[in-house]
Amino acid sequence: MAYAYDDTNIFARILRGEIPNNTVLETGHTLAFRDIAPQAPDHVLVIPKGAYVNFDHFSNAASEAEIVDFYRTAGKVCAMLGIEPGMGGAGYRAITNAGENGVQEVPHYHLHILAGRNLGRMLNRA
Ligand code: AMP
Repeated sequence: MAYAYDDTNIFARILRGEIPNNTVLETGHTLAFRDIAPQAPDHVLVIPKGAYVNFDHFSNAASEAEIVDFYRTAGKVCAMLGIEPGMGGAGYRAITNAGENGVQEVPHYHLHILAGRNLGRMLNRA
């Protein structure tokens, strides 16, 4: 079974230039931009330009060039924000949500990079 990609989602519209975004970094395969409703002082979304629904879709279907570019761009965003814990930064959390149980809202793969405050434990135990 193959993933169906809904190209009316908001990130597809951003990639088509139909709505603006606050770009942090852009490459041929990847776009990083600030989340419109930040949950931390720094909240950046990294998305592939290709039509991938979520992490497993991207990991299984994207080309090596897209995957390498995506993670290199995410790493550069960490450097640009000055949040790398081994480089004098205070650290961050990189997370992705998928599907119903992951409570994913936008069906285009994205990595959240959150930083600038103590983010607490990863999950509530409730
Ligand atoms: P998720 O729940 O993992 O799918 O996350 C979707 C994220 O997209 C949320 O953190 C939203 O605040 C963010 N978001 C939705 N619309 C926009 C937009 N137009 N520009 C930037 N971020 C957005």
